Amino acid sequence: MTSHDVINPATEKVARTIDLVGVEETDEAVARAVEVGPTWRAMAPADRGRLLRRFSEVVDEHLDELAALEVENAGHTIGNARWEAGNVRDVLAYYSAAPERLFGQQIPVAGGIDLTFKEPLGVVSIIVPWNFPMPIAGWGFGPALAAGNTVVLKPAELTPLTAMRLGELALEAGVPEGVFTVLPGKGSVVGERFVTHPDVRKVCFTGSTAVGQGIMRKAADQLKRVTLELGGKSANIVFDDADLDVAAAAAPMSFLDNAGQDCCARTRILVQRNVFDAFMERFEAGMRAVRVGDPNDEATQMGPLISAGQREAVRGFVENSNESVDVAFRGTAPEGAGYWYPPTVVLPGSTNDRVWRDEIFGPVVAVLPFDDEADAIRLANDTAYGLSGSIWTRDVGRAIRVSRAVEAGNLSVNSHSSVRYSTPFGGYKASGIGRELGPDALDAFTEVKNVFISTDN
Ligand code: NAP
Ligand code: MG
Repeated sequence: MTSHDVINPATEKVARTIDLVGVEETDEAVARAVEVGPTWRAMAPADRGRLLRRFSEVVDEHLDELAALEVENAGHTIGNARWEAGNVRDVLAYYSAAPERLFGQQIPVAGGIDLTFKEPLGVVSIIVPWNFPMPIAGWGFGPALAAGNTVVLKPAELTPLTAMRLGELALEAGVPEGVFTVLPGKGSVVGERFVTHPDVRKVCFTGSTAVGQGIMRKAADQLKRVTLELGGKSANIVFDDADLDVAAAAAPMSFLDNAGQDCCARTRILVQRNVFDAFMERFEAGMRAVRVGDPNDEATQMGPLISAGQREAVRGFVENSNESVDVAFRGTAPEGAGYWYPPTVVLPGSTNDRVWRDEIFGPVVAVLPFDDEADAIRLANDTAYGLSGSIWTRDVGRAIRVSRAVEAGNLSVNSHSSVRYSTPFGGYKASGIGRELGPDALDAFTEVKNVFISTDN
């Protein structure tokens, strides 16, 4: 074990010192997960459902504690952190109904009966990033446990605290030891071991595209199942028939929520040319009013970035870029301790600019005008990514045409909503493979088994 300081990004002070686990502890946890697997999958569906419901209730009983821990560890605003803990509760409650509803099919065949079963994979590993430590953990372990798998989970090194607490709360709720184990450790150690361990049947990864690609390559050795939730560079398309006041008022938080460290952030705004100036005027007023500061303050809308390194990465796109970057306007950020960065709006010179192409993962948005519907679709799709996007228009036909044409997994019309626990979430193209949440998430944690029973013998 090596000791590791977890830093509060709003103060730069040490929040906790924890022990990081290594390969040996990881192998022990996987061995335990293998051992308890048969009991967990054989548990009566209603009993497994009841335990998940109890887990959900225990999370709810500790909601304020979990939220406070996330504010301290990740610098999330208190309002967001409460929502995030509530999301874990809701995901568990939603999937607690799944054990009794994991239906197969009965398929008409000659000479007998044909049945399909959705069988658990075995030991499933979840690798979680630092941007949404609680929700992303829950989107993995909720459906994975419901489907009868046992789970090992690695939180990000920067943000292990809430996941560790969720591991304890699972035990408190009565989930048997070894069924769900949280392993704080390095990606290069624990994460790698998940990928190479022969008893781990699946890697459910959220994080950067580069690491996701590496995991997929290595998973090929054992034909290990993967779900990948990667980056994004989502478009917010504003047509001239939209309610401009509403569209402009919604635009700031569509890329400033969680200080822009959100794979669904709408970081490319496309505005129809004839309303460009009118939109920008309203957008600027809205953005300057965003409150950046102490995440413990109920009125705060945006906190700090997660780390000094992340802030340097963001600066590398704007201040320290080797391209000239035209900053249209900026919001404010506190001075002094904390990894602060002001909300920033840039006007790219062309669609080749890094600020237009690359995921910045900070509070920076790029804005470009477009001419017509075809131009908007072309620009929206001119990206390696395809996670989310928004379309602002009052024309229903256009809303549907453009929603169907944008290559992304999660679109919203006259709204920036991306994530609901009851609807599928995931990316096209370089944004990933597979879907989480909603009714289909269980497919990612099960194998379909087909059984034919002869009626002739
Ligand atoms: P990352 O390296 O992909 O980390 C995500 C998770 O993967 C962490 O738990 C990390 O562990 C683990 N990991 C790292 N290397 C691994 C490996 N070789 N094998 C298995 N697991 C490994 O992401 P990051 O470096 O924190 O962030 C870099 C960029 O990724 C961001 O700037 C952003 O663009 C993107 N990102 C996207 C999302 C998203 O939601 N799609 C989330 C986070 C980051 P450690 O914590 O120990 O490194
Ligand atoms: Mg990394």
